[in-house]
Amino acid sequence: MDNGVILSGKALSDKIKAGLKERLADFPERYGRVPHLAVILVGDDPASQTYVRGKEKACELVGIRNSTFRLPAETTQEELLSRIASLNADPEVDGILVQLPLPEGIDEAAIIESIDKEKDVDGFHPLNVAGLWMKRPCTVACTPKGILRLLDEAGVELKGKRAVVIGRSQIVGLPTAKLLLDRHATVTICHSRTKDLGAVTREAEVLVVAIGRPRFVTGDMVSEGVVVIDVGVNRDPSTGKLCGDVDFDSVAPKASVITPVPGGVGPMTIACLLENTVEAFLRKKSAL
Ligand code: NAP
Repeated sequence: MDNGVILSGKALSDKIKAGLKERLADFPERYGRVPHLAVILVGDDPASQTYVRGKEKACELVGIRNSTFRLPAETTQEELLSRIASLNADPEVDGILVQLPLPEGIDEAAIIESIDKEKDVDGFHPLNVAGLWMKRPCTVACTPKGILRLLDEAGVELKGKRAVVIGRSQIVGLPTAKLLLDRHATVTICHSRTKDLGAVTREAEVLVVAIGRPRFVTGDMVSEGVVVIDVGVNRDPSTGKLCGDVDFDSVAPKASVITPVPGGVGPMTIACLLENTVEAFLRKKSAL
């Protein structure tokens, strides 16, 4: 089989961003202001700095106001909680994002829980997580939301399909599995203790890989025609270049659809963050 469709998250995210930009154009006139995203970055982790710059650039591009608070690594939990409290109370802030991971000594769960659920544009607050699992109105985490958008863009019918998700993290694996389940896929979740992983993944018609191991899933682990979403962002140990959790060269020839790394899920995460921010703004406006 020839290589299947390479599903560009970059192209779809550009389309989403262009749509948002157009939508936001008359917001100042209609609502008196544009949506406002506040981002908090604690410490100087280089990867986090890159992610935050990406978010700033994306906000600027579509016309979302962005305030980034760069706090020193020595920031205490109390100082961070107090910063979040003032952003929660600020009526001109619609979305709050605390870039993870936080420096040691800060309780991430306590920080996430302190964000107003309505401003939690990452969708990590326990009330938003519960909302997803209980099918109540909620903000869905950006990466899983982006994955579903990609599958929809590719026209993948999920109903009745055998979907396998490798990875059970709170931010990717679990919410993605739930979204696939909500679309009536039959979902299997795999993790580091799964026995004979290849036997499970070869059953997959849709395979989502979110483990954080360079090129882990190889061609012999998938079946012909599989749809592959590669969430991984890793550095190739030999070249130092970005690569996914999927060995693209051996898997792509068997896949009907596959996402590349970079340019796949990554840009969709940012596009969905922008969407979540606009939705948070509109929810507030409609509640007034
Ligand atoms: P994580 O919290 O470290 O979770 C990794 C998951 O993979 C765990 O459930 C772990 O199993 C499982 N796993 C690890 N080794 C395995 C193995 N050999 N076989 C089967 N399962 C294995 O990671 P994460 O936050 O979900 O992120 C996963 C990857 O996605 C990373 O590369 C991250 O950088 C990337 N990511 C990308 C985006 C994006 O926007 N593109 C967003 C978020 C994350 P256990 O539970 O048993 O330990």
